[in-house]
Amino acid sequence: MLPLADTFQRKFYYLRLSITDVCNFRCTYCLPDGYKPNKERSAFLSVEEISRVAKAFGELGTSKIRLTGGEPSMRRDFTEIITAIHDQPAIKQIAMTTNGYRLAKEAANWRMAGLTSVNVSLDSLDARQFQQITGQNKFQEVMAGIDACFDAGFPTVKINVVLMKHLTQQLPTFLAWIKHRSIQLRFIELMETGEGSHYFNQHHLSGEQIRGQLLAMGWQRRASEPEAGPAQIFSHPDYQGEIGLIMPYDKHFCESCNRLRVSAIGQLHLCLFGENGITLRDLLQSDTQQTALQERIRINLIEKKQTHFLHQGMTGLARNLSYIGG
Ligand code: SAM
Repeated sequence: MLPLADTFQRKFYYLRLSITDVCNFRCTYCLPDGYKPNKERSAFLSVEEISRVAKAFGELGTSKIRLTGGEPSMRRDFTEIITAIHDQPAIKQIAMTTNGYRLAKEAANWRMAGLTSVNVSLDSLDARQFQQITGQNKFQEVMAGIDACFDAGFPTVKINVVLMKHLTQQLPTFLAWIKHRSIQLRFIELMETGEGSHYFNQHHLSGEQIRGQLLAMGWQRRASEPEAGPAQIFSHPDYQGEIGLIMPYDKHFCESCNRLRVSAIGQLHLCLFGENGITLRDLLQSDTQQTALQERIRINLIEKKQTHFLHQGMTGLARNLSYIGG
């Protein structure tokens, strides 16, 4: 079967699959008032439905699925979800993005079930500041969770850090932390979402600025693999860890887009900042619908735009990133 491609010859190896909107953290840039259940919203995808999503995308050339949310580990059936995706032979990499609060207990089980990599969101190495940002006093648990990943045999752990102005003071602490640890720090430029233009103007720190500082310190950019995400990766001979810079405002950001998204209720989103989701759920009800499902995905991909138009201040559906998973 021909692999998924859009009209700009971009190929889609990578699916970000949100499995819940629920989150127990209240990060200031994402869900400052905490998760509010929406009674009108449908139930989240079941394990069977998720398995059909994975099968359909796998046969269309997707080899990597990232489980996200909300907080994916809030799902009680999270281990079963990993197992169901692992059963799809085309999916070679199963990643998760997590706030890390269950890792200390579960990292080893999830790895055994087939999870291949973990991104932990950690915006500060200072316990007090961590609590101010996340609304949760769980810094020690998250740090123990990162250790648990290494103990469970994950060769590396990626740490997502949202770039905000206060980070300029914390940069040396973060760099010292990865000197002798196989951690990839991923600095994500703060994105303006529908809910937060005041916040954005107050806190946004340009990735260019950090890039300039890193280059001046001898960090060098290296090539990334085709299934890799949007990060520009930098390494340094004196550091075991690496740095990834994710700069959605960079004018070349969308050229290498290899990602599609499916929301927790089964809507296909062609872009994190796209307007409308395309319903897949009616075609996730039986194994006999796989061909129709794949056809719907393929046909709709023609509509994928060249860029996200964030520069023009369009934030689309992304009220905050907990809706379709950052
Ligand atoms: N709950 C999980 C977590 O905390 O990692 C997964 C979902 S969270 C929405 C995914 C990632 O999006 C996190 O690393 C978070 O820091 C990032 N994120 C959320 N809102 C963002 C924003 N406005 N700009 C940049 N990154 C954002």
